[in-house]
Amino acid sequence: MIEKTTIPAGHGKAFILNKSQTISVINTYGTQVVDCWAFNKANTNEYMSMEASRVWSQRLNPILGDTFVTNNRNKILTIVEDTSPGIHDTFMAACDEKRYKLLGVKKYHRNCCDNLVEALKEYEINCNKPILASFNIFMNIEVQEDKKTLKTLPTVTSPGDKITLRAEMDCYVVFSSCPQDIVKIQGEFDNKPKSVEIEINQDAQTFSEIKTTNTWIPKA
Ligand SMILES: [Zn+2]
Repeated sequence: MIEKTTIPAGHGKAFILNKSQTISVINTYGTQVVDCWAFNKANTNEYMSMEASRVWSQRLNPILGDTFVTNNRNKILTIVEDTSPGIHDTFMAACDEKRYKLLGVKKYHRNCCDNLVEALKEYEINCNKPILASFNIFMNIEVQEDKKTLKTLPTVTSPGDKITLRAEMDCYVVFSSCPQDIVKIQGEFDNKPKSVEIEINQDAQTFSEIKTTNTWIPKA
């Protein structure tokens, strides 16, 4: 059984996954970056770590089939399906209120870190120190030819592109439909935050063959 939920533009939501369950993020409009965190359900001080995952995978950014590990170096999530061009990011810190202040915003601006805190509150989890290092799904941060410089670019996804993550332990997974509307990351056109769809597969699924329709080739 598949349960569907919409995450409104600029908001976040937490989900509970049992080991082997899968959850998909669908980029409904093809322009939205989605920040993702995961926490061990039995101990939320153990969480998905981008630094430890890069050590595990020996890759700058994860690709289909890669597994994320926690700050205790246990497996937590695996990318088992990706119909997007496979461009995701682990370098950029999740946006927070300070980031928007530094960008010149005077009033409160919704942000991914507050979305994380808000989402976990629904399960009475107090995340008073939001984790900046998120898995930034569909975010296009390009490593330049000098192998040292990063370039922030709009996402290269299309409407309906989908990524599926499998839980490797019982965990909370949190997604934030990133409210960023100043730095141009949300598609090439209006840079406007949009909603995304989430599909939770209630039955454990076996992905005997990891699926991709990745056809995107970086511009020369
Ligand atoms: Zn954000």
